[in-house]
Amino acid sequence: MKNILLTVLASTVTAGTLLGQTDANHYEVTSPDSKLKAVITRTADGKIQYAVVLDKDTVMQPSDLGLNTSIGDFRSGLRIVKASEAQTVNDSYSLTNGKKKDFSFSANEQTFSIQDKDNRPAWDITFHVDNNNVAFRYLVHQRKGRGGDRMACLVNDESSEFVLPVGTTTYICPQMTPQTGFARTAPSYETYYEYGAEMGKNGHGRGYTFPALFKTPSAWVMLCETGVDGNYCASRLECKENHYKVAYPEATEFGGVGTSAPGLMLPAYTPWRTITVGRDLAPIAETSIMWDLVKEQYKPSQEYKFGKSTWSWVIRMDNSCNFDEQKEYIDLAAALGWQFVLVDAWWDTKIGYDKMKELSAYGASKGIGLFLWYNSNGYWNDAPQGPRGKMHRMIDRRKEMQWLKEAGIKGLKVDFVGSDKQQTIQMYEDILADANEYGLMVIFHGCTIPRGWERMYPNFVACEAARVSENLAFSQHDNDIEALAATILPILRNAIGNMDFGGSTLNKHYSKNNQRGTERKTSDVYALATAVLFQSPVQNFALTPNNLTDAPAWAVDFMRTVPTCWKDLKWLQGTPGKNLVMARQDLEGKWTIAGVNADKVPFKTKIDLSLFEVGQQLSLYLNNEVKTIKVNKKKTIEVIIPSNGGVVIK
Ligand code: CA
Repeated sequence: MKNILLTVLASTVTAGTLLGQTDANHYEVTSPDSKLKAVITRTADGKIQYAVVLDKDTVMQPSDLGLNTSIGDFRSGLRIVKASEAQTVNDSYSLTNGKKKDFSFSANEQTFSIQDKDNRPAWDITFHVDNNNVAFRYLVHQRKGRGGDRMACLVNDESSEFVLPVGTTTYICPQMTPQTGFARTAPSYETYYEYGAEMGKNGHGRGYTFPALFKTPSAWVMLCETGVDGNYCASRLECKENHYKVAYPEATEFGGVGTSAPGLMLPAYTPWRTITVGRDLAPIAETSIMWDLVKEQYKPSQEYKFGKSTWSWVIRMDNSCNFDEQKEYIDLAAALGWQFVLVDAWWDTKIGYDKMKELSAYGASKGIGLFLWYNSNGYWNDAPQGPRGKMHRMIDRRKEMQWLKEAGIKGLKVDFVGSDKQQTIQMYEDILADANEYGLMVIFHGCTIPRGWERMYPNFVACEAARVSENLAFSQHDNDIEALAATILPILRNAIGNMDFGGSTLNKHYSKNNQRGTERKTSDVYALATAVLFQSPVQNFALTPNNLTDAPAWAVDFMRTVPTCWKDLKWLQGTPGKNLVMARQDLEGKWTIAGVNADKVPFKTKIDLSLFEVGQQLSLYLNNEVKTIKVNKKKTIEVIIPSNGGVVIK
């Protein structure tokens, strides 16, 4: 259906440049339920703008569109010369590695052809509007010229912006300064969220990362982008007053190598910019827009099996990278009925390639597969952890992957990438594509967010791209505010893609003896709740061998069987920065509700149980115990979630 539609649109583009001359200045693309619409207008001075309206409320004010390219400045002096017929697009698909299993959508799409001041084609723009999302992307044309046609260009700047209404508050992450942080590995999307801050700041001076959440006076709005592959760079947002503008990577990223401006082979589409809108947070948390708009880039070379993994590093750190302790973690994974062990940095020297083969064989004998850590570099950082120099260049990478395949390794964790340049995005894609040929799954760390990658690359597992569990090992402050992150990551960071958090710690302290190191302030039920709330098809949980005897049996039993792949999800209630309750449905159809409270005081609330049947017996995990409850006639339950605590109902 969609392929056919795209063919039709491509042919009208050519015709449009000939027909032209309609000079209309106002169009509307409306959602199937008629409630959400994109309004496309031309200003008197020849700028093309769009706005987003929900019912009668403007949730995005008139916002500029346009591109400044190496073959022409297409930002002003523009005219809308053709509008295609509005078309309804339907699609349904399934993912094995996504936040849910079955997806379907219905949207209206319309394309507008824009001419520049010389009456030549500048760009086309397609708007895609479903009941909760507006998305748009540009098509940049070839340029006729006397000395021959221009068949390629650089895009030096993009006017695309998101102008939010006065009174909007923000839930966003400041962009990190390139080439700072540990061993020059930034930016890696690891700053703290601003919860409910006013508009007008520009982060730490260099804007904000996607996804960005806003509370306008009438609705919630989430901004992101999808379909970013080696044909473009990834973007961030620069803020001036209430204008959030698409900005390209900074020149200094990736050690200064590679352009900030993406290069295009023409004609070419840009990535989709997405705007998700809801009166509450359900449409944000549950959106599928990131995957609706992209296509699988290659077939899986095999059926990838996901699952739960032990991971020594977050508790025992680099010292645990030795043969005996990794064997201990294989035994732990086997004892828990899990599927994997993630062996982190330095294994190439502290265990060695020959012994790693032996470790992998030992794992296989117990039904446990290994993920191995890799340094992405390369020339763009100073991180000393090995293996180095194995992932950034195709010949070395494929040689390494051949060895990984022979050693029976199941997946990779590639760390310290730290750039959004097109050259870097191409490397992400190359690692994924090569890994698929060798039957390997891929986790990225110190990295960007995925942008539709679950559907585009079937062996993609997750990106870190958040302030995650490693900081709980490094900093007491992160422990003191740990629960804050769980009030936003499940509905914002996980709304747009899989996240490798590596949490659910049952140790009291982040150390091998469980006495020293940073101290966990959250409860054991909180740990279980985040196993449900934080989503990745492969979860690297922080459980340790001592937890089999020193953690409550009900907590360990829960962690034995908690799914990592889910059929569906539902946002139930919450305020980012305060509390959150949502539900995930397992592949058999059973729902689990999980909630957290980050406030300083206990949170008394009624939780909706309408996902269950009246009289159904459920387990309630609360206040450091588990008990059986029955669903009442009203299908609600009143609970008091402790500060830094959680609740789980299943
Ligand atoms: Ca990191």
